[in-house]
Amino acid sequence: PISTRHLTTTSGDYDTSNPPEVRRYLRTYGLVPPAVESFGQQTQRCLNILALKSSNIEKWQYLTQLRATNVHLFYRLLAQNVKEITPLIYTPTVGEACQRWSELYTQPEGLYLSYSDRGSLYSILQNWPHNVEITVLTDGSRILGLGDLGVGGMGIPVGKLALYTACAGIRPEGTLPLCLDLGTNNKALREDPLYMGSRREKVSPQEEKEFLDELMAALTERWPGIVIQFEDFKNPFPALERYKDTYTMFNDDVQGTGSVITAGIISAVKLAGIPVRDHKAIFLGAGSAGVGVAKQIVEYFIKAGLTEDEARRKFWFVDSQGLVTNDRGGRLAEHKVYFSRDDNEGRQFKSLEELIEYVKPTILMGLSTIGGAFNAEILQRMAQLNDRPIIFPLSNPSSKSECTFEEAVKHTDGRCLFASGSPFPTLEHAGKSLTPGQGNNMYVFPGIGLGAILSKAVSVTQDMIYASAVGLATSLNESETRQGWLYPDIRRIREVSVSVTRHVIRAAQDGGVDRELALRHLDDAKLDQYIRERMYDPFREGEKIEHEVNHLFATASG
Ligand code: NAP
Ligand code: MN
Repeated sequence: PISTRHLTTTSGDYDTSNPPEVRRYLRTYGLVPPAVESFGQQTQRCLNILALKSSNIEKWQYLTQLRATNVHLFYRLLAQNVKEITPLIYTPTVGEACQRWSELYTQPEGLYLSYSDRGSLYSILQNWPHNVEITVLTDGSRILGLGDLGVGGMGIPVGKLALYTACAGIRPEGTLPLCLDLGTNNKALREDPLYMGSRREKVSPQEEKEFLDELMAALTERWPGIVIQFEDFKNPFPALERYKDTYTMFNDDVQGTGSVITAGIISAVKLAGIPVRDHKAIFLGAGSAGVGVAKQIVEYFIKAGLTEDEARRKFWFVDSQGLVTNDRGGRLAEHKVYFSRDDNEGRQFKSLEELIEYVKPTILMGLSTIGGAFNAEILQRMAQLNDRPIIFPLSNPSSKSECTFEEAVKHTDGRCLFASGSPFPTLEHAGKSLTPGQGNNMYVFPGIGLGAILSKAVSVTQDMIYASAVGLATSLNESETRQGWLYPDIRRIREVSVSVTRHVIRAAQDGGVDRELALRHLDDAKLDQYIRERMYDPFREGEKIEHEVNHLFATASG
């Protein structure tokens, strides 16, 4: 028969679960060992091979190769072991992969665009052989906490898009990892004989802006409706400001983080049992992450009935100079102005302890990169002031976390409502098992992306981002709520993503930025069903080919 291979992805052709008739049809009969394997047998072998590898980077290499040779098996393995495999394809292992990208490079996995390619970006995009629904792009200038890694940054879009597929079922061939090679300020890289990017210093912000202007137009012309996610830019704000209203784009470092932490706060405030109006938050750290997170929580407070000014005044920020106030002298960085206090009556608070006495907060957030900053005394004081103190040490990695889960539990007698940036293990306390929350962006970005794709949104509005937080906070099941969790079990991520996606679609509709107008007429249950039906399911890909084969036989004999 005429090949209908376009219905499948080539890399599933050698799947050992394919039955004989499918192997004959694909002309792979005899090219794989005879046994027709169950999914269970296949993944067991993968897990065994992973166990043979002694380092995480070797495991990452194996998983990379598995994805290139059998994409559906890779996603089945990931779906069944999401908790165990995610750290191997994303943080923390992907950080080392990015640092060693040029050393370990073996195969193409995305698209690279250099500054010298400007003027012909559209024609280079034509080389990408698939129809793209979503791209993650970085310029490599601030990869995780590891600095400027040049084209090594490609590991981030590759890893993140694998999570879009695993968590929200965006089809693998609909994803485009994109790395901008705009030079690097990392001298060691430029002098590394194996470095695979341009050996020039980073272009100027003006040059970068012009390049991005051409790129955004080219991407959208090549694939109308494409969702463009920016990641790990040293300064994320100029592009976000410039493109957020004119393209379907968002920045996960700013918006995804804000959403996932806001969701944790929504859950925590519910459990703390005191009205929204009575909460007060101290933030240790007033960097772009801290201020970005607080701005989204302001939205939550406003939705809960406060005026913007009342909401804004619920926050006290501490940076390396102490409490951020209008009268402390020196020029305040622009992003700190919004939350800067004018009611300190001349008092300058240099220590966190002192400020806690003054404010008596219900919420303590850490985005300071200062490991251990929430010491025993501070945690104990929070526990005296509150029945359920909300303690979120969000700095990464765990060595920089403002406190550990164990410390927080110990010094608050197990009463804290806790979420961290990095994972901590479950604990036994007073005969009860306590599970820490982790404010992991992968709870929200897959659903934001899928919601934007399915609603065909013309832009990703702030309301859609906020809706993703609500979608996450309302996705906890009865057992998770009963145990006082702030976030759902990550193993239920596909279900969670359906809830996030539905909320994002509804917000797009309410804001009138949706173009898939038929979805407006579906009730929530129907919309959830619509979403699920569109999600790529690696367990059912084989069925499609079988169906195709059966159909062919039926028409041939009939
Ligand atoms: P950043 O821009 O470097 O900000 C750090 C902030 O901490 C600055 O405001 C700094 O003060 C302040 N600081 C430094 N030393 C201090 C001290 N001794 N006492 C009080 N404040 C101090 O970093 P960022 O991008 O905002 O990120 C901050 C942290 O958040 C990182 O560890 C990152 O891993 C984490 N994060 C977590 C998530 C997540 O959980 N999903 C997401 C994003 C970021 P100055 O302004 O005076 O320098
Ligand atoms: Mn990032």
